Amino acid sequence: MKSDFSLFSDEEQIIAQGKALLAADAETVPADSFRGLLSGYAKLYRQSTRLVKMGDRMQGQLNSLNEQLTKSEEKYRRLFEGGVQGVYRSTLEGRLLDINPAMARIFGYDSAEEMLIMVRDMGKGLFLSRDHYNAFVVVLRQQGVLKDHPLELRRRNGDMVHVEVHAQDLYSDSEETHVVEALVVDVTDKQRMLKELEALARTDCLTRIWNRRYFFELGQREVARARRNGSPMTLIFFDVDHFKRINDTHGHDAGDSVLKEIAVLVREHLRQLDIFGRMGGEEFAVLLPETDLDRAEQVAEKLRQAIAHHDVVLGQTRINCTASFGLALFENESEGLDCLLCAADQAMYSAKSNGRNSIHTSTQIK
Ligand code: GH3
Ligand code: MG
Ligand code: MG
Repeated sequence: MKSDFSLFSDEEQIIAQGKALLAADAETVPADSFRGLLSGYAKLYRQSTRLVKMGDRMQGQLNSLNEQLTKSEEKYRRLFEGGVQGVYRSTLEGRLLDINPAMARIFGYDSAEEMLIMVRDMGKGLFLSRDHYNAFVVVLRQQGVLKDHPLELRRRNGDMVHVEVHAQDLYSDSEETHVVEALVVDVTDKQRMLKELEALARTDCLTRIWNRRYFFELGQREVARARRNGSPMTLIFFDVDHFKRINDTHGHDAGDSVLKEIAVLVREHLRQLDIFGRMGGEEFAVLLPETDLDRAEQVAEKLRQAIAHHDVVLGQTRINCTASFGLALFENESEGLDCLLCAADQAMYSAKSNGRNSIHTSTQIK
């Protein structure tokens, strides 16, 4: 019997000696009982070596599990420490237990340690008020898990930071209480870009006033309101006269400058609630809520004069232009903004055919 275990060298020796004794002095030794003892001993020895081998294997498995655990702990620690997203653990009452450096960065603190010391109470230190924090906890407790939950929080310097929070309400055995575990993503830049994109999608890129699509969107709301309230509303549509000539004489860039200046000039003569948009080319529309035809005619006359008396100065060149205006009153039985625009457009063409630089209302047609 040969074993790798030095642990059992004594036992191996005993077995070998027993065997030798049995072979050398078979007559004096009570062979049967001695053989029985010897084989019993040998069996015990085999079982022991098997147990030791099993123990060794288990130890090996344990070591490899520990190694895996350490590696995975390192991995998660790296994610926690080096991630760009904030991570925190807190009590339900809002006491921060653990945060990562990204969380500190998002809120303007130099380190996680500093933030943990300075923000004792999330209700006071991060949320706009304790009520805001409590409202967040109520939703979290109701739902258990929150995903992409938008929150407006406060940085160290008081600035607002828009975040999306993925949070869980967990029962912690070790702390014997509920804890909140959350991932915090700073979406301030994303929101700013979205707002900028939205604004871009609404404005005309040359004149910076509303584009046709957004003019219609705002206009439909005003139409609905005018229908509900029965309040008067008038649409002014105007088109720059002989604009093609301006382009042909002074160039396309000069034409662009004229359009931009007309937009600024007109805006200055309107109220905040008036809706002003570029319908395309050198055509513009103004929707005047709460305005009857008489008042709208006065507004249109102011606009006509402002444009006619304004010179666009480009270096040594002065460009003067005029515009023709068409007005249409919204009436409850009117079919909608499209029809109103159509009527004002027709009135504008009637002003064009009557010599331009003038104002016509849709009732004057027919
Ligand atoms: P009318 O008095 O009958 O309105 O004559 P008009 O020359 O103003 O009208 P017409 O429709 O013949 O020409 C409009 C011109 O406006 C043609 C087009 O090239 C020019 N235009 C359209 N959009 C722009 C723009 O964004 N910038 C410039 N510079 N020109 C534009
Ligand atoms: Mg035109
Ligand atoms: Mg024109």
